[in-house]
Amino acid sequence: MFTPFIERPQLWLTIAMAIAIVAAFLYTANLYIGIAQQAQDELVNVRIGSLQDAFAPLAAELSDQSDVLRSYMRHLQELNPTIVDFDIVSPTSTPPNAWVVTLSADSARENRQVFRQDFILHLAQTDTARSFTFESNQSGERYFSTARAIVLRDGAVSGIVLTRQTLSAADAQIAASTHKASVTLIVILLFLLLLFFRHARIIDYAALYRKLKEVDMLKDEFIAMASHELRAPLTAIRGYVDVLKGGDMPKATQDLSLERIDISARELDSLIVDMLDVSRIEQGRLTMNLSRADVSGTLVEICDTWHMKAVEKGLTLTCEAAPGAFIMVDTDRFRQVIVNLLSNSVKYTQKGSIGLTASADEKYYTISVNDTGIGMTNDERDHLFNKFYRAEGRDVRDQAGTGLGLWITKQIVEMMGASITVESIKGVGSHFIVRFALAKE
Ligand code: ADP
Repeated sequence: MFTPFIERPQLWLTIAMAIAIVAAFLYTANLYIGIAQQAQDELVNVRIGSLQDAFAPLAAELSDQSDVLRSYMRHLQELNPTIVDFDIVSPTSTPPNAWVVTLSADSARENRQVFRQDFILHLAQTDTARSFTFESNQSGERYFSTARAIVLRDGAVSGIVLTRQTLSAADAQIAASTHKASVTLIVILLFLLLLFFRHARIIDYAALYRKLKEVDMLKDEFIAMASHELRAPLTAIRGYVDVLKGGDMPKATQDLSLERIDISARELDSLIVDMLDVSRIEQGRLTMNLSRADVSGTLVEICDTWHMKAVEKGLTLTCEAAPGAFIMVDTDRFRQVIVNLLSNSVKYTQKGSIGLTASADEKYYTISVNDTGIGMTNDERDHLFNKFYRAEGRDVRDQAGTGLGLWITKQIVEMMGASITVESIKGVGSHFIVRFALAKE
């Protein structure tokens, strides 16, 4: 048995916590990856800066020995494979304000015009004491371009060292770390899922335990009440049996005793039937097979059965059930409801009439059972649907009854999605109304 999700606030709490843990992990991982990337970038930057710091004075010294300088640049590039371009550039007037490669580790690049790096080249030209870097992105790969002025002994700037470094190796390392973090996240998620299902189980067990305790309590309560109710008819039967055993007595007394025994035996019988229904309802074992039906035929049929019993008691029973309206009912349980209301009316009416009417408006199908019987006070009406309730007074106590019928009736009516109400005046009569919503086609 798995309790529906919505009924378990603890589970929502677990889910919220799981989401918070994953979010916190993602945030922290992101933060550290950012920090690591920044540190990597800075390291690359410092390294190329130092390289240029060392190279620039050498380039100034060897400014007239381009072949030596070129081979030295090649050597440095071999030592630092992340350097993709290693050039010395100078401003030129053709085209105006342009920069060209005057010397390069790759001689094929010499005399080429330099694009897009003017900004750092100008900076390096004006601030000759340090190097300047700018980041660019080409086809998804990051590059650092770094520029530093080559200052001759007389202070003149003979050119600018311009290097372009790829950051792909550093980025690949970061990507590998991100991959590891993702795998860790998946493992964390799996653990959380495991935890979540364990938690769900524990909550289910807790709910089950609570329900069991509740059922156990209801059972004790029910047994206490039932044994009390069973004792009354049994005592009556034993009393009348003792009277009969007494021997000589008028026939009228004998008949009365036998009739009382019969009433009490029937009372015991219906008490057991009702108790079984009560226990089924309380344990949620009473199932409804609801189907769309026109119940007018069933109502007429029940009326026909009860007609004779009413007539025997000197009562009239009329029945008017409009056909053509459809409601959702469990036919057997519906029959039980109507029989209970009609039998009560016959039982608690000494003279006059009983009427059953059923009619539909746009929304509802309303069934009324009216009688001109003993009726009830407001106080009695308030307790009417309580388990084992029976009004005080001989006119009720002389009739066989368990006090369970109306409680069962109300539960069944509500399980079918309908309602039951009662209007009554003591000594005048009662009016029970059962209302069903009309079933859609
Ligand atoms: P019972 O087995 O006693 O009839 P019910 O649950 O059917 O049990 O009814 C509970 C009590 O409600 C009855 O004992 C009686 O006091 C009162 N009652 C029920 N129906 C009627 C009625 N039609 N007229 C007057 N009183 C009624």
